[in-house]
Amino acid sequence: MVMHKIPMYKAKAYSAASATSSLASTTIVRRDPIEHDVQIEILFCGVCHSDLHQVRNEWREVMPTVYPSIPGHEIVGRVTKVGSGVTKFKPGNLAAVGCMVDSDRTCPECQAGLEQFCRNTTLTYNSPDKHLGGVTYGGYSESIVVDERFVLRIPSNLNLAGAAPLLCAGITTYSPMRHWGVTTGKKVGVVGLGGLGHMGVKFAHALGAHVVVFTTSPNKKEDALRLGADEVVVSRNREEMEKHAGSFDFILDAVSADHDINAYINLLRRDGNITLVGAPEKPLAVAAFGLLFGRRSLSGSPIGGIPETQEMLDFCGAHNITADVEVIPIQKVNEAFDRLLKSDVKYRFSIDMASLKST
Ligand code: NAP
Ligand code: ZN
Repeated sequence: MVMHKIPMYKAKAYSAASATSSLASTTIVRRDPIEHDVQIEILFCGVCHSDLHQVRNEWREVMPTVYPSIPGHEIVGRVTKVGSGVTKFKPGNLAAVGCMVDSDRTCPECQAGLEQFCRNTTLTYNSPDKHLGGVTYGGYSESIVVDERFVLRIPSNLNLAGAAPLLCAGITTYSPMRHWGVTTGKKVGVVGLGGLGHMGVKFAHALGAHVVVFTTSPNKKEDALRLGADEVVVSRNREEMEKHAGSFDFILDAVSADHDINAYINLLRRDGNITLVGAPEKPLAVAAFGLLFGRRSLSGSPIGGIPETQEMLDFCGAHNITADVEVIPIQKVNEAFDRLLKSDVKYRFSIDMASLKST
């Protein structure tokens, strides 16, 4: 697609030049806001493990990465400019953007507010950019321009650095829990205490469930309890796992790497469900009998639609829920990626975008 004479401006950003490059400072162009656009100065951007998968082209089979790649889809900031048709936002307002910046708006999924299932979704980064050509650029940058339909409101009581991760880690764990009826009296497991997992624990606890965390990191036990878990199981301990056989209504699997999902399927009760939100590079092996016995089900869930994302943010406002974050300057983002690979994150990195000014 060739684009003509769209007014643009320059913005600082951090990008990766290839699957093996570190992220480094760069300058990109953004479109000037058009009729329904909101321009946002980015204050904080969370670091999702998906940023790492994508930058390193680990999802090449499904969505190959186009370089330079500028990740970041957990964005909070302040509105600096709006187009003439914008009604929901004014300059000075706080605003947030998650994993999507557009969709076709006409298909049944969009009409139902389930834009995450639209076949023509524009993701915040690495999707074809309808306006400028090339691909979209994410939140590791000083500003972003997004149609107001995909811009969310942040409750004013929430800490902004901790609110940023709600836009992906938050909605991705909230949505399947609502879908599968997590509520008081249900026994819910959360596998993997990283960015997504720790939000899953907070939501399951706030929804009234009995929450059990499965972790490979014994040193996260105390934290898991503090975050809202009722019990913690070190998943490498067979005996501890065995005690929970056949007892879970729902398990959320938020693991970023290869692991034995059958060990968790066997912990489900009759008709129990395990939902994958983790997106490891390689396929997982599933043993048929774990599913057959007990009529258990395995499903997946991607992020959440715009109305549900706003509902989740409002729920967080009402329950005072934010992510536990380690705030970093953008210059430390490569180190943060390395630490994600070692499961060394407590429990989300949130980039203070003011640091980009000094690059
Ligand atoms: P993260 O912060 O790095 O957390 C992943 C956690 O998985 C780790 O903290 C660790 O928890 C566990 N883990 C890592 N390697 C493991 C291994 N080899 N075996 C067992 N457990 C292991 O990542 P995240 O940002 O939460 O993302 C998690 C996954 O969800 C990623 O694959 C990401 O791409 C995906 N994701 C999906 C969606 C979606 O829409 N479905 C949205 C966002 C992210 P313990 O130390 O507790 O074991
Ligand atoms: Zn994400």
